[in-house]
Amino acid sequence: MDGGEVIERFRRTGALLEGHFILSSGLHSPAYLQCALVLQHPAEAEAIGRALAGRFTAGQVETVAAPAIGGIIIGWEVARALGVRSVWTEREGGRMTLRRGFTVRPGESVLVVEDVITTGGSTRETIDALREAGALVVGAASIVDRSEGRADVGVPRVALLTIDAPAFAPSACPLCAQGLPAVKPGSRKAVKS
Ligand SMILES: [Zn+2]
Repeated sequence: MDGGEVIERFRRTGALLEGHFILSSGLHSPAYLQCALVLQHPAEAEAIGRALAGRFTAGQVETVAAPAIGGIIIGWEVARALGVRSVWTEREGGRMTLRRGFTVRPGESVLVVEDVITTGGSTRETIDALREAGALVVGAASIVDRSEGRADVGVPRVALLTIDAPAFAPSACPLCAQGLPAVKPGSRKAVKS
């Protein structure tokens, strides 16, 4: 599955949003990929998970771990395609950790899977939590890479789609200059900035 096919799946499921968005980084962009909207369709989630799993060889990964919430569905589908276990990490007191009785054994080979990688922060925190628990993190994967390939998480990393949609500081945003209200994806409210 190449990047074009991934974009087509997002477009077809209404997950490619066009307008004026405030990214989690605070930058503004005319486009936003809402992974939850493509992953709400089990057949799409399964196909994308299988494509990501295909970037790794069988036997290389014993367990998939994903940062909650965004990584859970795609992590599960990658794990299903690889025929391995799927766990997730979540924040407790601000710190990413394995909860709910999830454990890894010392030296267990783990692949970290996320929906979108932007700075790599959540993936790095998940890698740290797993290493602390004794796992061997063998790689990282995401559906979308918003970092133009730049995010360095310290392990080999793959993405199905690398995008370089323009992003602007609010003061330099041409959409703001046109007076168009900016929207935080996921919320219904337009916010003035
Ligand atoms: Zn703007």
